[in-house]
Amino acid sequence: MDKNEEKKSAAKELEEKLTFEFKTAWEPGNKEKLDAINSFADEYKLALDSGKTEREFVNFTSAYLESKGFKLLETYSELKTGDRVYQLVRGKGLLAAIIGENDPLQGFNLIGSHVDSPRLDLKPNPLYESSDLALMKTHYYGGIKKYHWVAQPLALHGVMIKKGGEKVEVIIGEDASDPVLYISDLLPHLAADQMKKTAASVVEGEELNVLIGGLPYPDEDAKNRVKLAVLNLLFEKYGVTEREFITAELEIVPAVKARDVGLDRSFLGAYGQDDRVCAYTSLRALTDLEEAPKRTAVLLMYDKEETGSGGNTGASSFLYPYYQQQIVRLMLGHEPSSLELSQNIINSTMLSSDVTNAFDPTFASVSEPQNSCYTGRGMALNKYTGARGKGGTSDASAEYFDEVVRLLEENDISWQTGEMGKVDQGGGGTVAVYQAELGLEVIDCGVPLLSMHSCFEVSSKVDVYETYRGYRAFYENMRNDRV
Ligand code: MN
Ligand code: MN
Repeated sequence: MDKNEEKKSAAKELEEKLTFEFKTAWEPGNKEKLDAINSFADEYKLALDSGKTEREFVNFTSAYLESKGFKLLETYSELKTGDRVYQLVRGKGLLAAIIGENDPLQGFNLIGSHVDSPRLDLKPNPLYESSDLALMKTHYYGGIKKYHWVAQPLALHGVMIKKGGEKVEVIIGEDASDPVLYISDLLPHLAADQMKKTAASVVEGEELNVLIGGLPYPDEDAKNRVKLAVLNLLFEKYGVTEREFITAELEIVPAVKARDVGLDRSFLGAYGQDDRVCAYTSLRALTDLEEAPKRTAVLLMYDKEETGSGGNTGASSFLYPYYQQQIVRLMLGHEPSSLELSQNIINSTMLSSDVTNAFDPTFASVSEPQNSCYTGRGMALNKYTGARGKGGTSDASAEYFDEVVRLLEENDISWQTGEMGKVDQGGGGTVAVYQAELGLEVIDCGVPLLSMHSCFEVSSKVDVYETYRGYRAFYENMRNDRV
């Protein structure tokens, strides 16, 4: 070895000691781990296909929890270590817990995600007939690019309340034998004017009209025979009339199923991964716990994140802390004082579990490569979110961020960090602010997505798996040395 080489290896050594970079989470030679990643992804795909709305995902989750021994909160008169309990939040949100060994006043370990996704809702009075077509008017929900929703197969999901109060669940367009619904686009041959518009207005909100029928009712006496024939089909199938659309909650979602993406199947594509990828991984992290944790492990699924977390099912609703208080009461065995309830909350630690942008080389200009999350590099942690000068965010403390990172590293979880886009490029918020206001420790984390908020969002399977492992490590080990 000559002198030059010796010098180089010393520099190399110093480089390894002093510098830091995130690496791929894939271990292509580890067959066992690849199998685990793929089978987890297969189970996740089934969950996505059976829960395309917040209600459906909550229904899927409660059935899954029941199959894993969880029981409704109202069935317990006391809660002991190892008890498995859950509570629906008006059918669109959910809270579940495994009771830990520690005193509830020492705080819980919480993971909160959201189960609503951007979509098109039907307007209260949606049905009309025009030019021999039966159509339905929509009002979009959440942040969408409206042009994504035209010229592709769509499904109708939701609930209608019949006269007399009976609820019927509607799903049209998911079964292979079902028809799908459709929003038309303009043919390029006649789109000269449309193509001059900006992308925000190339398809307008009032142009998102859903095609639902074209066959006239046989009797020529009726006014709008195509609309009447559609109403007749709905009446025969569901027993509903036009009046019942007014109170209904009906959502138009992409009819596409979750699929593997890429020849190597390393990606998973589906509608609604924001944020059901975090909902599913945290659900599995909770239900796969083999032993009761030291600190009570709590799963929260919120609704209405995509419209600002308002309403009685959103993250700012009183119902979530209310049910947490009920758990504290049943653990203590006495009516807790307001001081005791506050102690439970402020001593809790939380992961605000939501997706983030994955760096996309095709659209590299909106991101700052050194501070971006990448597909395939594991669970993403975001110290803060927000827009402009970090407006509208909860900024996790250095101490708590470090505590979470140490936990992940001790458990050999691949993690990474990044901001959502360049400074002043845009931004976004999560539910973290609402929990942070209560005083507990919280940090944003989750899975990076390509094409977030599109009709077919893409995640890397290894990121999904590492996030699941990270959540599980959090439930098992976060502050479990404190009693
Ligand atoms: Mn989200
Ligand atoms: Mn979102």
